[in-house]
Amino acid sequence: MKYTLLLSTCLLLSACVTKPTEHADIVISNATIVDVKTGELNKEQSLAIRDGVIIERSSHSLKNNYIVEQHIDANDQFIMPGLWDMHVHFGGGKELIAENKQLLPLYIAYGITTVRDAAADLSESVLSWREQVNNNQLVGPTIYTSGPKLEGKDSIWPGDLEVETVEEMNAAIDSLDEMNVDFIKITDSALTPALYLKAVKEVKKRGYQISGHIPFSLSVTDVSNAGLDAIEHMTYLLKAAAINEPEISKKVASGELSYRSALPIITENIDKKTALSKYAVLANNNTAVVPTLIGGQVIAYIDEDNHQNDEFLNYLGEGLKATYQWRVDRANKDTPEQIKQRKERFIKTAQLLVLAQQAGVSIIAGTDAGFLNSYIYPGISLHQELAIFSDYGLTPLQTLQSATLAGPKFLGKSEQFGELSKGKTADIIFLSDNPLIDVRNTQKLTGVVSHNRYYDQADLAQLKAQAKQLANN
Ligand SMILES: [Zn+2]
Repeated sequence: MKYTLLLSTCLLLSACVTKPTEHADIVISNATIVDVKTGELNKEQSLAIRDGVIIERSSHSLKNNYIVEQHIDANDQFIMPGLWDMHVHFGGGKELIAENKQLLPLYIAYGITTVRDAAADLSESVLSWREQVNNNQLVGPTIYTSGPKLEGKDSIWPGDLEVETVEEMNAAIDSLDEMNVDFIKITDSALTPALYLKAVKEVKKRGYQISGHIPFSLSVTDVSNAGLDAIEHMTYLLKAAAINEPEISKKVASGELSYRSALPIITENIDKKTALSKYAVLANNNTAVVPTLIGGQVIAYIDEDNHQNDEFLNYLGEGLKATYQWRVDRANKDTPEQIKQRKERFIKTAQLLVLAQQAGVSIIAGTDAGFLNSYIYPGISLHQELAIFSDYGLTPLQTLQSATLAGPKFLGKSEQFGELSKGKTADIIFLSDNPLIDVRNTQKLTGVVSHNRYYDQADLAQLKAQAKQLANN
């Protein structure tokens, strides 16, 4: 019936134009889409977006197929899925809630459309920001959060759920259940290795993903076999690569060696074959790693760059900046020998990244941005982390995958993210240069689509200007 009607209209008119009836909030035309799965470039692509979801993708313009709210001519620029920072923190005490909240738009300003909060002492706020962002009441990246992390009694970090017994541990996991957290984090500053392993197994039984630090007396393969889904920080993979790792662990457990004195011994005993065999176990068990190398690099080279002239300092409140000091003070006490060692350790750690990739370990990009971790700035640090991945041997495509595919995979969200095609979430970044040629081109950001809103370059600059203004008030 419709077809006949259309035909008759066409007979009457010299040009056959069908009026669109469907609505689209945003239509993007003339984009070169970077396929982060295959590394292919698809030119002259058009996307239609409604309610934050891609409703159509075509190699023909979609501009006239919808009643379009906002049309963006991408002008042959490169577009790809928004970046994920899979290790950030919001914290520093209740008096820093406002300063932490002000970091959220900065992530968008740098093309980070999703963050994973890896626990601290402001979980209640983070949980409410998660909802506010999802409801478009707050400008910021999509937030996934662990809520407070599992620890032992008298943990060195504030805000943890401290447990000493199996009963307390179960109750703690119950409380995380009630908070509706997205995954569970565990660290070991005060948790016994035995209870740590029990907790990992219990969390897995309840169907959560779990990531964390690793007790020194356990190996990466122990925790991977117990079910840990992701190892936070590459230092544990450095330790695993030492040929005499079991012996060193025993000495640390017995108190014969301190953690700090063990580090140079580990660094001197790195062995490629040992690394590859340990990493193969991780790959086989589907245990990922979140390297967070940028923090190690900043501190290793703090004697060469004290970061006092960083532009980004203008975007941070005084309270957050003050939390940076302790790590700097500690590093400044290092002797020339220790400074040499920490640089060597950073390089050797970063060099293991290709071995992890070669072994098939899922590498997830994350930064440790937030409070405490000196000069690891929200947003920009993810680009710096990616540059390190590339400098130490990952291909640009592998590097992009660590920030677009590995995060969704860890959180079980691959159906929704990682591709610009029909049905996927419209988290999109616009780049003026090809990131497959040089991953630093992720820094040539010209636009972002997040939560059904398009930010052009002026909007992104405005988000930074706002942060600056708030930080100085
Ligand atoms: Zn962290």
